[in-house]
Amino acid sequence: MSDEVYRRQVARLFEKSGFYREKLSRAGFVSPADVGGLADIARLPFTEKDELRQSQAAHPPLGAHAAVDIAEVARIYSTSGTSGTPLYIPLTKADVEEWREIGRKTYGRNGIKAGERVVTTFGAGPFVAGASLAAFEAIGCTHIPTGVGNTDKVLAALEQLKPQALACTPSYALYLSEKISSKTSIERIIVGGEPGGGEESFRRKLERAWQAKVYEIMGIGDVAASLWGECPAQAGMHFSADGVIHVELIVPETGQPVAMKDGAKGELVYTHLRREAAPMLRFRSRDHVQVWVSECSCKRKTLRVKCIGRTDDMLIVRGVNVFPAAVRDVVSRFQPRVTGAILIRPKSRGVKQEPPLPVCIEGEDDPALAEKIGAELRNALTFTPEVRLVPPQSLPRSDYKSKLVDFSEAK
Ligand SMILES: [Zn+2]
Repeated sequence: MSDEVYRRQVARLFEKSGFYREKLSRAGFVSPADVGGLADIARLPFTEKDELRQSQAAHPPLGAHAAVDIAEVARIYSTSGTSGTPLYIPLTKADVEEWREIGRKTYGRNGIKAGERVVTTFGAGPFVAGASLAAFEAIGCTHIPTGVGNTDKVLAALEQLKPQALACTPSYALYLSEKISSKTSIERIIVGGEPGGGEESFRRKLERAWQAKVYEIMGIGDVAASLWGECPAQAGMHFSADGVIHVELIVPETGQPVAMKDGAKGELVYTHLRREAAPMLRFRSRDHVQVWVSECSCKRKTLRVKCIGRTDDMLIVRGVNVFPAAVRDVVSRFQPRVTGAILIRPKSRGVKQEPPLPVCIEGEDDPALAEKIGAELRNALTFTPEVRLVPPQSLPRSDYKSKLVDFSEAK
């Protein structure tokens, strides 16, 4: 069934999107018949974020990949562009409804039920996380949006409204845990928007601080918000868009496909099977994950993933891939002697680094501790760090995304 939907989508791309028509033709696929079905998808070129930026710059305001007229667009989100111009993510009415349905499934997997009260700390816009907000009403729960960074409002809601669930970034959940003095009414904390929620030690720390269970979710702006969600088994995040979005796994360095089997690792690549505005064809997510295809103990059979890190955050230290989130995970094993906050400060620009790689770690000022952490990082992640212990609370924190790599000392 997905195959039929995909073929229709490809025909639509040829008809409506100059971007894909040209891209596919350049690669030797001049008609939908050349492209074929889902079984042949790995022959097609990838779509990269930079191409979307170029497409938008050359064909403003939405880009030649948009595949609809702006008059047909119901909503336009935007991502923060590094160059100052935002990259727009248009959605038609049908696209908005599809995202809400994906979000409803994801939060349902987290165990949220009708009648529960949920505090959310995502903004309604401009970022796509806001699109998931309608999913809470779709489930039938009482939604308490507090917006981004309104800590006083969150604390008041915890006190007055006694919510069962809290949805926020992992770093904000940690920040909030330092503000609460006793057990709250929160039973589940839904974390997403940045890596961290899947890291065992970080998760246990949050669970201890809140005396609540942590559920991770993951979305990707250009594809769908809240696309993956964890169930109570905490055995990876379940996929929530079967039949709507096609997923592949690839080797990031070569682009070669990786077979989907339990434990396989690679970068996620997404294809919209029926998105109307801004459809993605083999879009490289830069999310490096481990996958499982076997049935979960919750009886669901969907694909599950755990995020290892961002391939664009990744550093290569003498041939070894180092994910900052994985570094933080290993360092967190030393709690409470460390706070869990880290910042990698590469000595040179770019992905490739020479050892030792400087890692600032908040913790007790003790050379023996630095030694032990260094040895653990070498053992677990096979690169040589230069451990610099810094005082607790001295590294920058944010309520949206904690930065784990800082190139300001790089030459
Ligand atoms: Zn499950």
